[in-house]
Amino acid sequence: MVKFADRIQPCDNGLSDIFAYANDPALISFAAGYPNNHLFPQNELQTAFNASLTDSASLQYSSAAGLKSLRAKIAAHISDTKRTFNADQILLTQGAQQGLDLTAKLLVNPGDGVVVEAPTYLGALSAFDAYQPTYYEVSLQDDGMDLSVLQKTLMTHSVKFIYTIPDFQNPTGSTLSLAKRHALLQLAERYDVIILEDSPYRDLRFSGDSLPSLASLDTTDHVISLGSFSKILSPGLRLGWLVAAPQFLQPLTELKLGNDVQSSTLVMNAIDQYLTEHDINTHIAKMNRAYVVKMNTMLNALDRYLPATVSFTKPTGGFFIYLTLPAEIDANQLLKQVILPEAKVAYVPSGSLFPVSHQANGIRLNFTNLDNDTIESGVKRLGKILTAVLRQ
Ligand code: PMP
Repeated sequence: MVKFADRIQPCDNGLSDIFAYANDPALISFAAGYPNNHLFPQNELQTAFNASLTDSASLQYSSAAGLKSLRAKIAAHISDTKRTFNADQILLTQGAQQGLDLTAKLLVNPGDGVVVEAPTYLGALSAFDAYQPTYYEVSLQDDGMDLSVLQKTLMTHSVKFIYTIPDFQNPTGSTLSLAKRHALLQLAERYDVIILEDSPYRDLRFSGDSLPSLASLDTTDHVISLGSFSKILSPGLRLGWLVAAPQFLQPLTELKLGNDVQSSTLVMNAIDQYLTEHDINTHIAKMNRAYVVKMNTMLNALDRYLPATVSFTKPTGGFFIYLTLPAEIDANQLLKQVILPEAKVAYVPSGSLFPVSHQANGIRLNFTNLDNDTIESGVKRLGKILTAVLRQ
């Protein structure tokens, strides 16, 4: 029998240390990945919820796949010049997070291979861990996964799916180039491996043109794609979506039914109301105008205050910037011993974002939920300590 403790190993990811400082008013936390509190369309959502509550159907069970009119609106939102989606290709989920869990539940038996970007999203590893995969890391370059590493992995190991965050990746902010999107799909076809595309930051583009999603480029049913209202509307709503071909969508819908029956009828109805009354792209554009200023404030401060031995990514969207310290530095130890107690700054250290190599010299910084002055002073404090530590 597999015991709980054998499947989920407690890990030191630095977060419990950060919680210990959570009530310190001096703490500046770049650790969480929260949207900005002031940018939620609170009044509009209140109206939408009130309108939904006038219909008793909002308080009733609906269906495992989720409200069809909302699925149709999502289908229209994710359609592009390459591909038009429809409601029947979509399953509504409890955030993108549930899509990660359901996909691993469907595809992974203990020991099966799963490819992840290195570093990757910690919450995905938490979801996958329950199914005991064997992880293979593929390093990230400025334009996404190193496909030569991926190809070697696929040639030498049996892999159930390739997990990728192609747009404004968590934690690096990097975006998979168009050429690599095509090449990745070709590899998936050649080795007959599923791609799990997780793209909750996709609409948060600050410059340049949007690239087609892997789902929209997929002509051979190799992509299961996840999206979410968490970053473009509100994470408290807990609503996301999964797009897949029928041979995956049908069993995934069964798993959703067994998991939590359906997403909240009230929430689905309220979001549907909101999308009927408002152009979400106008709201997204407003968020992007605010976030780009915050990102540039952080990038400029990093330029000014970080020692030259620390490099950092320069994303064009999303929530995160990723710092790489000299290889011998352990960012988690540094956080506990110096950065939290002395600088009163929090970040996510990289060790737990690499499930195999536990590479420890990276730092994830979030810029979306702080004001510009706080971003500037937090980076200044971080830079001062890093300069002192790295000089030793
Ligand atoms: N995937 C990635 C890459 C994320 O960063 C997050 C949220 N931090 C999620 C999935 C989960 O998001 P949701 O709130 O939609 O479940």
